[in-house]
Amino acid sequence: MPVALYPGTFDPITFGHIDIAVRATKIFSRVIAVVAENPAKHHFFSAQERVAMVKEALVGHPSVEVISYSGLIVNCLREQKATVLIRGLRAISDFEYEFQMAFTNRNMLSGAETVFLMPSAKYVYLNSTMVKEIAKLGGDVAPFVPECVRARFRAKFPAA
Ligand code: ADP
Repeated sequence: MPVALYPGTFDPITFGHIDIAVRATKIFSRVIAVVAENPAKHHFFSAQERVAMVKEALVGHPSVEVISYSGLIVNCLREQKATVLIRGLRAISDFEYEFQMAFTNRNMLSGAETVFLMPSAKYVYLNSTMVKEIAKLGGDVAPFVPECVRARFRAKFPAA
């Protein structure tokens, strides 16, 4: 049974990410969420915070392991002896970018397969950027993220 990595920035993890991770556990015996640590990219939450939130959000799903990684995902695949990348596909807008990434990764590491999973329909339009905007403007993010994320937003924006 191949090992699957689920890479992302998770800035922050949402119910959409959780939905995909849980679906992946139904297909693969080992699923590892990989939090991208790219110091050159600006993220709202630090890598440490993002990893902590992913771990807390997935505490009820112990079959999903959580690690952070800085570098090419194909190198992470090699290190973890994994062959599958899980990605979530929402609307058609995700497709072009994901298509490019999947081919690029397979060109860099033959045998690296990307498996796309679709979330529950209620999460199709959910993304981390929108959640951050809502929190910044003082809206309630409870419908979109678990309590561990909401609490961290509240610490940064007391009105949220
Ligand atoms: P990246 O910066 O690598 O796109 P993200 O954390 O934004 O990282 O997303 C990681 C993966 O989770 C991507 O495949 C993305 O399409 C997927 N994803 C994010 N939100 C959702 C959602 N609401 N439904 C399904 N998949 C999602």
